[in-house]
Amino acid sequence: MTETEDMKLCEDLLHRHGLKNTRTRREVLRLLRQCGGVLTAEDISRALVEEGKKPDFSTLYRILELFTERGLAEKHYLPDLRKYGFSLKAAGHCHRLICLKCHRVIEIDHCPLESFEKELSEKTRFTITGHNLEWYGCCPDCQAAEAEKSAAPERRSGKKK
Ligand SMILES: [Zn+2]
Ligand SMILES: [Zn+2]
Repeated sequence: MTETEDMKLCEDLLHRHGLKNTRTRREVLRLLRQCGGVLTAEDISRALVEEGKKPDFSTLYRILELFTERGLAEKHYLPDLRKYGFSLKAAGHCHRLICLKCHRVIEIDHCPLESFEKELSEKTRFTITGHNLEWYGCCPDCQAAEAEKSAAPERRSGKKK
């Protein structure tokens, strides 16, 4: 995809969610799309600074909150950072598996809560309109990186297990 095509797609996405097209909004959207995982406002700010831009942190945060409100992004609590991260929202109902080390996201289309939700609604007489479920963990790549890291100092100090 060329940069112009990418820009056009970002504009369309903003338009479809009833959002005015501003440069900063397009940039936040571009970074979220490029990453494909979860980014914090700090990550986005850092990426823009690296590109030689001068982002205003509170503006970035407001944009991320607005994207979430309009259903363009999803907000996730990241227990390792004690902060919120944001990712682009997938079409349709799905759940997510998030790596706490690299913040990659795996989408799970299977919903394990359908029958439980029905039961809960019957028990509580609530009309349930939605739910949110995320799993946290460590992806295979990060597990391998961790294993390598913990093996390396042992080799250097010559300690036996
Ligand atoms: Zn990972
Ligand atoms: Zn579900």
